[in-house]
Amino acid sequence: MPSRTPCIAANWKMHKTVAEAGQFVDALLPQIAATQSDVVICPPFTALTAVVERRYGTAVKVAAQNMHEEDSGAFTGEVSASMLVELDVEAVVLGHSERRQYFNESDEALARKVPAALAAGLEPILCVGESEQARDAEQTEAVLERQLQADLAGVEGTALSQVVIAYEPIWAIGTGRTATPRQAQETIAFIRDVLRERGAAADEVRILYGGSVKPGNAAELLGQPDIDGALVGGASLDPGDFAAIVAAA
Ligand code: PEP
Repeated sequence: MPSRTPCIAANWKMHKTVAEAGQFVDALLPQIAATQSDVVICPPFTALTAVVERRYGTAVKVAAQNMHEEDSGAFTGEVSASMLVELDVEAVVLGHSERRQYFNESDEALARKVPAALAAGLEPILCVGESEQARDAEQTEAVLERQLQADLAGVEGTALSQVVIAYEPIWAIGTGRTATPRQAQETIAFIRDVLRERGAAADEVRILYGGSVKPGNAAELLGQPDIDGALVGGASLDPGDFAAIVAAA
C-alpha cells in the first residue's frame, strides 16, 4: 500500500490579523521543526502573505479558505485560483460546512471549484460531512456519497489522488463533541471505498478527520489506519496546541 504523508491543517476561519498571524508562525515553526508531516495553515485572505513569507524553507504550506470557480469576472468580493497562486498559496479549502451553511456554497459550485483549483495548481481540500439529523437517521453514508459524487463530478479518476478530502461531521465542528475514533475510521474507510468506485487510486488519497480535534484526542484519531491527518479549527489558534496535534501525527 502506498504510504500517505500525514497532513495537519489549521483552519483559522475569521481569526487573526496580519500581526497575529506572523506571531503565530514565529511561535509555531520551532515547535514543528522535526515533523515529517505536511502542516497546512489556512489564514483569512488578508493574512495569506504574512504566512507565506514566513514559511519558505519549512514544512508549512499555505491554503486559502475559499475561492471562486471563475478565473476573473464581475464577482464582487471573490478571489480566484490564479490570484491565490500568484501569492504562492499552495492549497485551498473548499466546501467547508460553514460556507455551505452561511454562504450557500452549493455542490454545483464545488463541482466547478475543485477542477478549477487543480487546473491552477492548487491542492483542493474538499470538506464533506453529515448533520446530526442525518447521522441519527442512519443517512451518513448516503449524504457523503451524494456530496462526493456531486462535488467531484468534474474530476477524472486519476486526478482524484491530488484532492485531499476532509471528513467533518457537522455536529462535531466547534462543538467540543468529536466522532469516536471508530466512527471516524469507519466513515473515512467508506469515503475511500466511494473514491475507489469512482476510479481513484484510493489508497493514495489523503482523507483527514475534522471536528473538535484537540491535543488530548488527536493521537487516538490519527492512529486509525484510514485517517491521514486532521483539519483543526479552534485548537489551531494556539501555536502550542496546534504543535501538539502535529506531534501526534
Ligand atoms: C473546522 O473548522 O474545520 C473544525 C473542524 O473546527 P473545530 O476543530 O473547532 O471543530
